[in-house]
Amino acid sequence: MKIAALIVAGGRGTRIGGEVPKQYQPLLGRPLLHHTLSAFVRHPRISDIVTIIHPDDASHYQTAVEGLSDPRLRVALGGATRQASVRAGLLALENTGVDQVLIHDGARPCIETGLLDRIINALSTDKGVLPALPVTDTLRRDNAGSAGETISREGLVRAQTPQAFPFSAILRAHQRAPHEDYTDDVALAAEAGIETVLVEGSEDNIKVTHPEDFARVSRLFASGSENRTGFGYDVHRFSEGTHVTLGGVEIPHTHTLLGHSDADVALHALTDALLGAIGEGDIGDHFPPSDPQWKGAPSRIFLEHAARLVRSRGGEIANLDVTLVCEAPKIGPHRDAMRRSIADMISVDVDRISVKATTSEKLGFTGREEGIAAQAVASVRLPVTV
Ligand code: MG
Repeated sequence: MKIAALIVAGGRGTRIGGEVPKQYQPLLGRPLLHHTLSAFVRHPRISDIVTIIHPDDASHYQTAVEGLSDPRLRVALGGATRQASVRAGLLALENTGVDQVLIHDGARPCIETGLLDRIINALSTDKGVLPALPVTDTLRRDNAGSAGETISREGLVRAQTPQAFPFSAILRAHQRAPHEDYTDDVALAAEAGIETVLVEGSEDNIKVTHPEDFARVSRLFASGSENRTGFGYDVHRFSEGTHVTLGGVEIPHTHTLLGHSDADVALHALTDALLGAIGEGDIGDHFPPSDPQWKGAPSRIFLEHAARLVRSRGGEIANLDVTLVCEAPKIGPHRDAMRRSIADMISVDVDRISVKATTSEKLGFTGREEGIAAQAVASVRLPVTV
């Protein structure tokens, strides 16, 4: 029996926000879709894996399949609705000798081998298969914010994907569907007279819908977490001026710091520390000084970028610690403002941020008041993937 998988990934994911559709947003350092496709690539019974993508997403798809290089993977271009996209995917499988097809949401990356086995074991020549779970919470109507009547949950289940069907029957049902508004393939199949049997779904097989689902799915993939530490060091030279910017705070001074950006030596050291903790090179790799767009840039964008990279891997920042080395200006009076400013930039509690200062006893370039040096350490927790 030849079994194909059809992965529906043509949506624009507008509900979730972000610059790219949700199925291409990073999850543990890879596009979400990569994890979904991996699960099917790992299963030995799947003969073809057709991903239905939006015509604008070809390069996103290429990034998503990096590292998979499996001859069973290919794409079909989707249509205006989910239903039209599934139809296009089914047509792409026509004349390939496929007997059964599993139709799966690209945004459900936690599909396990065990669930695929349950579905495959239930396949038959004339019926569909639907993984489903019982409804355990009490269902109640929302009466404009107050609790309304209880709804019986008896006989109700939550429908998941992949939904599996005999190939020719579901292709015919799609080609003859009277409208484009079926919520899923089981509904469309039912109208065409195809009965669908239930198998037990999986609580982990969630559909990523809201931004917080990324963190939840990251936890499901992680077998634990590990601590990482990174170090950063930076120096900027003084020149004529009226203030310096340190930790995002403007501090009046007899000189300013010279640099391509706003020369915030504290934020630069912290950015390098965070990048170091996740092995992502240094600030110059991400924001080349040769690039005029960073001229005069506020350095907070560098630190925010590094924090985003940590979070895109499902990681979290445990703490940041920076030491400024200078004779002047005095850091003490501005220390708490700098801690709050840094904490705000990366959305962590202020008690996770430390700012310290020392002089170098008039020794060396900092002692001669030629510039300011900063040293920083970052500690992050990253999920360990199985
Ligand atoms: Mg610098």
